[in-house]
Amino acid sequence: MAEGLDWEAIKRKYHYRCVICRQPEKVAGKLVQVQIEDAVIPPQVFPLCPEHNLKYSQGYFTNAELKKIGISRDTYLANVSNAGENIEPDSPPSTTEKAILAQQDAIKMVQKSQRKRFQQTQSDFRKDI
Ligand SMILES: [Zn+2]
Repeated sequence: MAEGLDWEAIKRKYHYRCVICRQPEKVAGKLVQVQIEDAVIPPQVFPLCPEHNLKYSQGYFTNAELKKIGISRDTYLANVSNAGENIEPDSPPSTTEKAILAQQDAIKMVQKSQRKRFQQTQSDFRKDI
């Protein structure tokens, strides 16, 4: 990661603007540095606004956006998947995830009771025959 003067120099090189939307830091929010590493090119650092940094890290950059930073989709995907490795795989479920799990349990319980009722109807039908 570029630090101190290096990062200042990089931001100055890009006129203190996001490389994608060209919005200045004052408008778009604090610029975030993104480092791209690849076997064939030296590591490169770009300033991105918070919005484009999020889009970048989630792997949603379009070909046109990749062209602006001059990297191929392969390089991009390799860098994004590297970033993904930092995510804790065993992190506890969030509140939203817990709510979804609870909902799924409730659905299963309803399905179970419906199945029971259905089996009962079937056995009643057999008695009639
Ligand atoms: Zn931007």
